[in-house]
Amino acid sequence: MNQHQEPAYLLYKNPLAEADAIAHLLAAQGGHLQARIKGAKSLQRGFLYNPGDLLLIQYETSETTDFIRLTSHQPLVQRDWSRLGYRASLGWNLLLELVGRLAGKGLEPAALFALLQEAGTWNWEQEPTAKLVFAGCWQLLRHSGVAFSWQACQVCGRPSYRLEGAVPQFRKAQYRLQAGGLACGACVAPGLLDAAMIKVLWLAKSGQNLDAVPEALFRQWIRELISYLRQQFQVQVNSLPLWDQLRAEGDGSRDS
Ligand SMILES: [Zn+2]
Repeated sequence: MNQHQEPAYLLYKNPLAEADAIAHLLAAQGGHLQARIKGAKSLQRGFLYNPGDLLLIQYETSETTDFIRLTSHQPLVQRDWSRLGYRASLGWNLLLELVGRLAGKGLEPAALFALLQEAGTWNWEQEPTAKLVFAGCWQLLRHSGVAFSWQACQVCGRPSYRLEGAVPQFRKAQYRLQAGGLACGACVAPGLLDAAMIKVLWLAKSGQNLDAVPEALFRQWIRELISYLRQQFQVQVNSLPLWDQLRAEGDGSRDS
């Protein structure tokens, strides 16, 4: 048995049997940790944290199991969920789950931990949720080691934009995101990524203000990026259907 103590984010909990759960945590040193929580729903012995809460945990690891033994836990930073609103909660949970799934695939845990620390400081109450989820996915992709090139079509090499002075001129094409990068509609069956979509990446890359970008473009990119990450890492993302459903039901409306 090895003893450890460090801060960790609760990423998500999966119910197990009657009253137990498996907690998925992310620590900068330990990486993706799984712990069986006995009686997670019981008030006396409970582990009543929400995904995204930062805890200080003590735990033991052993060679013989993938599970840690949690010997103590206490809250460090807990968010007031009642102020976030449903839409923001879903977006934040989607990001947490993505980070957890990718942490389980060997991505550098310290970088993922830092990403969550940063995302935790974003203004989820006020900022458009889709913009923040996009920003999180985009950073995640950059940390993932499978970032794709989008400055040119991967098949024919034609650039997706060229600069006239400091002003980008975007090629009128319908791109598809596939393994290795973007491919244009002249080379493969045209996809849903047009010049407006490419411009979003250019703005993000240039560190420019994204406030004028329509929510629909962020949502399309979130779908594309998650689909890409799922294929690259063979992960499932359980909270994605809820997020997509929210779009179908509440497009254009804010609940926060
Ligand atoms: Zn092409």
